[in-house]
Amino acid sequence: MLATIGVTSLDELASAAVPDSIRDSEPVTSTLPPAASETEVTAELRALAARNTVTVPMIGLGYVGTITPPVIRRHVLENPAWYTAYTPYQPEISQGRLEALLTFQTTVADLTGLPVAGASLLDEATAAAEAMTLLRRAGKAASPRFVVDADTLPQTIEVLRTRAIPLGIELVVADVSGGLPEGDLFGLLLSYPGASGAVTDPTALIDAAHERGALVAVAADLLALTLLTPPGELGADAAVGTTQRFGVPLGFGGPHAGFLAVQQKHARQLPGRLVGLSRDADGNPALRLALQTREQHIRREKATSNICTAQVLLAVVAACYAVYHGPDGLRRIAQRAHRMAAVLAAALRAGGVEVVHDEFFDTVRARVPGRADEVADAAHAAGIAVRRVDADTLGIACSEVTTVAHLEAVRAAFGIGADTAAPDTAGLDTAGLDTAGLDTAGLDIAALDAGTADALPEGLRRSSEYLTHPVFHEHRSETSLMRWLRRLADADMALDRTMIPLGSCTMKLNAAVEMEPITWPEFADLHPFAPPADAAGTLELIADLERWLAELTGYAAVSLQPNAGSQGEFAGLLAIAAYHRSRGEAHRDVCLIPASAHGTNAASAVMAGMRVVVVATAPTGDVDLDDLHDKIAEHRDALGALMITYPSTHGVFEARVREVCDAVHQAGGQVYVDGANLNALVGLARPGAFGGDVSHLNLHKTFCIPHGGGGPGVGPVAVAEHLVPFLPGRGEVGAVSAAPHGSPGVLPISWAYLRLMGPDGLRRATLTAITAANYVAARLREHYPVLYAGADGHVAHECILDLRAMTKDTGVTVDDVAKRLADYGLHAPTMSFPVAGTLMVEPTESEDLAEIDRFVDAMIGIRREIDRVAAGEWPVTDNPLRGAPHTAASLMDKWDHPYPRELAGYPTGVTPGVHDRKVWPPVRRIDGAHGDRNLVCSCPPVEAFA
Ligand SMILES: *Cc1c(COP(=O)(O)O)cnc(C)c1O
Repeated sequence: MLATIGVTSLDELASAAVPDSIRDSEPVTSTLPPAASETEVTAELRALAARNTVTVPMIGLGYVGTITPPVIRRHVLENPAWYTAYTPYQPEISQGRLEALLTFQTTVADLTGLPVAGASLLDEATAAAEAMTLLRRAGKAASPRFVVDADTLPQTIEVLRTRAIPLGIELVVADVSGGLPEGDLFGLLLSYPGASGAVTDPTALIDAAHERGALVAVAADLLALTLLTPPGELGADAAVGTTQRFGVPLGFGGPHAGFLAVQQKHARQLPGRLVGLSRDADGNPALRLALQTREQHIRREKATSNICTAQVLLAVVAACYAVYHGPDGLRRIAQRAHRMAAVLAAALRAGGVEVVHDEFFDTVRARVPGRADEVADAAHAAGIAVRRVDADTLGIACSEVTTVAHLEAVRAAFGIGADTAAPDTAGLDTAGLDTAGLDTAGLDIAALDAGTADALPEGLRRSSEYLTHPVFHEHRSETSLMRWLRRLADADMALDRTMIPLGSCTMKLNAAVEMEPITWPEFADLHPFAPPADAAGTLELIADLERWLAELTGYAAVSLQPNAGSQGEFAGLLAIAAYHRSRGEAHRDVCLIPASAHGTNAASAVMAGMRVVVVATAPTGDVDLDDLHDKIAEHRDALGALMITYPSTHGVFEARVREVCDAVHQAGGQVYVDGANLNALVGLARPGAFGGDVSHLNLHKTFCIPHGGGGPGVGPVAVAEHLVPFLPGRGEVGAVSAAPHGSPGVLPISWAYLRLMGPDGLRRATLTAITAANYVAARLREHYPVLYAGADGHVAHECILDLRAMTKDTGVTVDDVAKRLADYGLHAPTMSFPVAGTLMVEPTESEDLAEIDRFVDAMIGIRREIDRVAAGEWPVTDNPLRGAPHTAASLMDKWDHPYPRELAGYPTGVTPGVHDRKVWPPVRRIDGAHGDRNLVCSCPPVEAFA
């Protein structure tokens, strides 16, 4: 590969490609220890895991015990066919995960009683924040006030506050039990059930808000909605929450899929990804991402939200949980949790303890004046974590994992002896308490039946059906579910089948040894609000990772709280804004962003209350320095920040980045270096050392957390010393995620990666990634122009192939090439980002030469096909490119195309008797516009497939 590039060693390439002005003179001396073997790393992780103490989670606060069915854990969470997939932007080779996500949307829509739900948000708190801004966009009220039910999860209120301030939204947290506070409002958030556990009828409040011209969102517990009248039926405009308790491990806070569902008329306002039904070139139903024109990668600063990476893998887990249990199974699980809570409440009352609420779902609030600590400690000593609300009050949440023994232990912790009179058995309501299949946790149902009434409000019992679609009834055996999951995965092309050369996305290996620990119970089953001593191992892992990442990036400190790159950007910009404010320069609100920036940059700047000013691109692809100086001069006094991606989104190391940073600093601005492309820098250069004040990193790119089909992600924000006080959740700036440490459940992956590589391995990986990109550029250059290169002719870790002239000459588009690659059994590169009409290729260090050559050879083969179109041999409207991808079925139809079917299906030829790598796409080219015009975003009736 080096010979093809024209250099003799990796070091020579490093000197040639990476500008001296940014390169670290010595190797990064890191606190990161030298590389360890897989066996050693596993042993170290085992030791960290052993320092965690897993207790029975009865804390509640939006995170409850759940059982991940082993069939789902093994076939989804631990299955590379699911976890290594990318966001389904190439829908023809993503039908499996799109179907799983449509099932997720249907689950949420059915349970909330609202017609449209998105394909996941980052957590409950950010979902509530997205709902707040959605209601503001969608509503007509001019008021800046958003009223929040005081009985809402405290972390949700905190994130709402963080998000409200820069947008000028006035957050009013009010006790709404007696009605709405006086005054105008544009929106209202209610909690159903409340954070305290209480279930009250929200109808009057919803009506009152509507009467004042406001819209209403309801934060709801999805499992409770199997028993309670759903928000949609009560008149709510939107519903938000988490799907964690649908089989997703606690993971000390995440990752979990948040949800947001809305009335049909607000569908076009939904943030994030939305799966919709459309049709393919043969008229067959096919799935795709709908309404993308409202997203950040298209609309930039006018987008509905900055969310990009979401929580797809966890949404798939939640959908599978609903499919596996079906509506009756979910209802049983809900009833069981409810019965546990009802029995606990009765037992506490019988023991003389005050139970605050008469009506609740799964959470009991108990008052023990002055004794809360004592009771919580006693419960903890018995291996149970309960919520200490204040010195007098406790919360105890029941769930799928609660057993009678746990209830006994809680009762004992309250000091109620077993000799206390048993609860009154009169008025027992066991109707509907079907126990079949429910004794997974050793439940002694007889003890529960011993005599307690339900505690759900009679008027709020759900009467409508849900999950009636056949998918929720057909896969109720492990055999069937396993085969459904395999069938879906077989429709998709993930890293387990092909390289995924997506520029800017860094689709690198997610090594098995890195993945293994995430499902170890010591990491997976920790509650985010467990006492810190119980999480000693995870907290040490977090501290290691923060320290290592800070050193590798040249910054003073790192926060792992943001749940995606976009959230890291938002947190970083909030830090900059708070810093200016702390110096009496709150008026510095202009954010300069190069035209080539990722769409999240502009969207995040707007969320942080900044004004976006675009800086032009020079013909070289670099930031146009003249325009930059002009824009700085024009906005000198208001300059808040510059956001610059390094290496640039054009895949180039810009030699003059220091000059850019200096100019911004001289004008009083701060420099935000978007570090999503760190795979080209680790071990070679540090953004904090060449001029950055703050960066975010994408652990789901450079640091091996798998993309999961579009999430989870972790987007740490790294800051220089002067910005440390402004990291999220440390006082000056509020939290940006629900859980204090974001998504610790997947952090063992990045920890293991860094530990396996050591400083030398990281540097070598970076140089290998740069080598691979330059090899692709060198081999493809004569077939497709490489758009940009650095001063010495080299690219960084990715390269842009310019198809625009070819499209102009022949009519063959980037789309045609991308879809034709599927016929070759390959995933397409990034299409039309950052330059329309181009393909951006990022091979990463993980691909071996044979696979890179397979890709390059396919691209050359496609070029020859384009030449035949150019030569007039095939019309532009009917050739193997425009016809791509070809399904097996389409080749068996009557064939009346000017190119042979063999070429269509087997572009590289067939070797009889050889088991080839052919992957048959399940659908043909999908008509996107049709799907947007005829929006169908939940599982269609089976007749649609007739
Ligand atoms: C991926 C990416 C982002 C956004 O990251 P998410 O985790 O998807 O929010 C931002 N900037 C650049 C350059 C990226 O490549």
